[in-house]
Amino acid sequence: MPTNRVGVIGFPVEHSLSPLMHNAAFKALNMRDWRYDAMSIPPDILRLGLREPRDHGYIGINVTVPHKEAIMEYVRPDEKARAIGAVNTVDFRSNLGTNTDADGFINDLRAHDLPIAGERVLVLGAGGAARAAVYGLSRAGAEVAIVNRTMSRANALVDHLRASAGIDGISIISLDEAAGWGMSLIVNCTSVGLHPNVHQSPWYDGVPFPVGITVYDMVYRPANTALMRQCVAHDGFAIGGLGMLARQGAIAFELWTGVEPPIDLMQSVLQDALEKTKED
Ligand code: NAP
Repeated sequence: MPTNRVGVIGFPVEHSLSPLMHNAAFKALNMRDWRYDAMSIPPDILRLGLREPRDHGYIGINVTVPHKEAIMEYVRPDEKARAIGAVNTVDFRSNLGTNTDADGFINDLRAHDLPIAGERVLVLGAGGAARAAVYGLSRAGAEVAIVNRTMSRANALVDHLRASAGIDGISIISLDEAAGWGMSLIVNCTSVGLHPNVHQSPWYDGVPFPVGITVYDMVYRPANTALMRQCVAHDGFAIGGLGMLARQGAIAFELWTGVEPPIDLMQSVLQDALEKTKED
């Protein structure tokens, strides 16, 4: 019987690939006394629901939709979680809540040998994923501009990062302005292009696509998005979001276990699972 338990809470949570990824890592490292479970907790009983893993001696949990913001009230959020406005990983031993999305994303850029410091990076979107990206990129020394459909949300992102993390200098521009801004990297943090809308791109027709740049698309279903195809058609290099998914999980794994995670294995397990569920 495993004595070290971790897991993910969400509602619904059955679709989560995290149990597969973490349990495969435990198995590969022969960590027989570790187990990762999925726990469904409805939003109206989050506080009560948290007693279940706490009272049963769970070491930590991942937190997914819709609890990432609400859980901040019940844990001690660190600077990253406060800046991003969401907790996706909790360590019950310290009751610390953190967010591993920004580091997972930056680690994946670095794994692809992409320069960040001093680079101009365009972020498409202004939701939770964009907050993580802008936080991580700014901390890593990039010059960041944001394009978002809803201006008030872009303004809220900029104001929040300034107030919570002292991050200044983020510009908000239009897609037309972005075409001539001279970025080396575009990061898609919108949900445009996500299955089943696989033919949609956040870079709409009529705006010239920059030539020879890199696109990082946080969308990982499908593996090759319309935006990625546009990039490659313009002599660019395109990366999908699966590596970020694996790496944000890997950070949580190391936080709980103190063991270096088998990242390549975690990524290939995710890839296989997504291939199996491919419906397009
Ligand atoms: P979110 O908070 O709901 O934000 C969605 C963003 O997409 C907003 O900026 C929204 O713009 C924009 N958007 C949605 N539909 C649009 C449309 N038709 N045209 C233009 N903009 C549109 O979602 P999120 O949590 O930030 O997640 C965003 C994406 O990142 C999702 O696809 C998610 O799966 C992915 N993600 C991937 C990873 C990973 O590990 N790879 C991690 C986190 C998230 P408005 O503000 O105008 O509504």
